[in-house]
This record gives sequence, C-alpha cells and structure tokens, in this order.
Amino acid sequence: MTIITTPTVGFIGLGSMGSGMTHNLQRAGFPLVITDLNRAAAADLVAAGARWAGTAAEVAASSDLVITMLPTPRHVNEVATSDNGILAGIKDGGTWVDMSTSIPEVTNTIREATASRNLRILDAPVSGMSAGAAAGTLQIFIGGEAQDVTRLRPVFEAMGDSEKILHVGGYGAGYAVKLMINQLWFSHLVATAEVLSVGVRAGVDLGVLRNSLIASPANSTFVERDVLSILERGDYDEGFALALACKDLSLSSDLARSVGVSADLSALVEQIFSRARVSYGDHAGEMAPFQLYEDSIGTPLRFGTPGAEATPGSESTPAAAPVASFTPGSLTAREA
Ligand code: NAD
Repeated sequence: MTIITTPTVGFIGLGSMGSGMTHNLQRAGFPLVITDLNRAAAADLVAAGARWAGTAAEVAASSDLVITMLPTPRHVNEVATSDNGILAGIKDGGTWVDMSTSIPEVTNTIREATASRNLRILDAPVSGMSAGAAAGTLQIFIGGEAQDVTRLRPVFEAMGDSEKILHVGGYGAGYAVKLMINQLWFSHLVATAEVLSVGVRAGVDLGVLRNSLIASPANSTFVERDVLSILERGDYDEGFALALACKDLSLSSDLARSVGVSADLSALVEQIFSRARVSYGDHAGEMAPFQLYEDSIGTPLRFGTPGAEATPGSESTPAAAPVASFTPGSLTAREA
C-alpha cells in the first residue's frame, strides 16, 4: 500500500497517552477513525470530526493504517485477534503500528499467522509521558523495515519530536529499546535511593552526598536531574502509575528470559517495585519505591529535613566542591 499525504489513521486506545496522540494527529490534518472501551474518551475528537467505530475490526476496515496504544500485551493481543479485532477488518497488505509498551511475542505470533496476507506490522513504543503525548514531543522507537518507517514518518512526526523519532532496528527492536530504557532508569532509581539512604544514615548531609555523587564517576541523569522532584518536593510522579511501571519491569524480565539472558539485577528491581506496589498501591507514582528506603531509615530524603540534611557549615558537613555544570532545579522531569 502506498501512503498518500493524508492517510486516514485508525486509532485504538484513547487513554492517558492515546488521547494526546490522537489530538495531535487530528491537529496535523489526519482524518481519524477511533475506538476505545470508554466512548466518553472520544467526545472531543468526534466533535472535531473524527469518526467513532464500534469495533477494532471497523477501525481497521475504514482506515489506511491502524495504531494501537493499549495497556499491556494481553490487551494488544485481544484487540488484534478477537472476532471483532484488527485482523478481522484490516485489508491484505494493510499497516498496523503498535505503540504500546509491549513485547515482540504478540506481534511475532500474529505476523507468522498472517504471513500470506502481507501485513505491515511495526512496533513503535514511546517515551515522554502523557505531557509529551499532549505536546507532540514523544520520543518514538520504531522496529520494522526502513521503507515502512520512511512511509509513515509524517504520521510519527505528528505525535513526536522529529529529532527523537528513531528507527532502532527490525521487528521487535522498538519494544526492546523501550523496555531496556525503563529497566535501566528504574534500576538507577533503586540504586540511588539505596546509596542516599545509607549515606545519610552514616551521617553525611543529603546535599553534600548528592553533590559528591554528581562530581564523581558514579553520576547519572537520575542523581543529577530526576531525583530532584523527590528531594525538593516529595513528588513521586503520579503521572505514570506504579502499576504500569511494574508491568514494564515484568515485560523486561520476560524479554530477558525469552532471549536466554539471566537478568538477576532486573529481577531484584522488579521485586522491589512489587513490594512498593503492595505498600503504596497501583496509583502511586512510578518513583514510589524510593519511599521504601525513606521508610526504612525513618526519615524522608528531603532538602532541609532534619536527619537528612545537617545544618550548613556545621563541622560534620563540609561544603561539597562546587559542581560546575549543574544548576539545581533546572531540570526536574524525566523524559523517558
Ligand atoms: P491508559 O490505561 O491510560 O489507556 C489505555 C486505553 O486503552 C484506555 O482508554 C482503555 O479504555 C483502552 N482499552 C483497553 N482495552 C481496550 C480494548 N479492548 N478496546 C479498546 N480500548 C481499550 O494507558 P496509557 O497510560 O495511555 O498507556 C498506554 C501504553 O503506553 C502502555 O503500554 C504504557 O505502558 C505506555 N506508556 C505510558 C506512558 C505514560 O506516561 N502513561 C508513557 C510511555 C508509555
């Protein structure tokens, strides 16, 4: 199929992410056919000209390409393969782009089962949170064939930052890159919570300890930027639910198992996140596992909190060497 300048885009999953993405597609002039379990989520889009479809099959039958943005691989599989699913409606040679955070298994199985239909099935998960989806500045990691990526680039550019739309490899590579980014970031979070807790308990001032880490080879974006929302405001980022973070970690472990790599550290980080989910609930912020460590030392890790930060200038808290490249508070939200 050749994509003309304004293909009709079918979109399934109008939640925190899909809502912003569809509004941006609509603003960019793409006619939309949409569906979701929650019809109310489509109200604005329909009022602005999008067509509501009752089933995923109808979305697929009435569009030039279908995009899914669904919570888990289970949802993706169901929306694709059920009686009224994408495969029941999509034309032979049609295009389906799954932008959910998922694993290759589902789309690989479907690709194999539909080989004779010549469907173009790409994975293109994203980073950038719901704010990035609303702003059209998502980072997009695309797995698939170069000709399809080129053909679909205008559609991706309506949703993402053109500098951050990356073709990362063949089928499944997009899912893998996205999961590895989240895995490493969550591992940084746990490691940072641990060293700050131990250091503070050992009597080091929180700010001095962090500045020392920043000035050292152990520095990371998490220590330098992302942890600030906790240390300054006690904000654990409820914009990304802990339940979804646990889902991503579990998919990451699944991926490691499926490729035969024993990912011991990933398994431990996943367990710590699961423990936080039991303590703080599904809707707690993705950084809530940090709080497990704060609870264990009996004090929140906050600038200016007695027990976490000693009085400036006291003998026990020598001033840290200035960190030339760092402006406190200049960057607070993570991009991934
Ligand atoms: P969400 O739960 O807010 O939205 C999912 C939407 O899918 C809901 O509106 C739901 O009604 C709909 N849905 C579920 N099953 C359906 C079905 N059978 N038919 C039609 N619609 C159905 O989730 P989200 O936060 O938008 O996340 C979507 C994906 O993006 C997830 O894989 C998530 O991991 C990933 N992601 C999320 C963020 C974030 O900050 N929220 C950031 C990057 C990636």
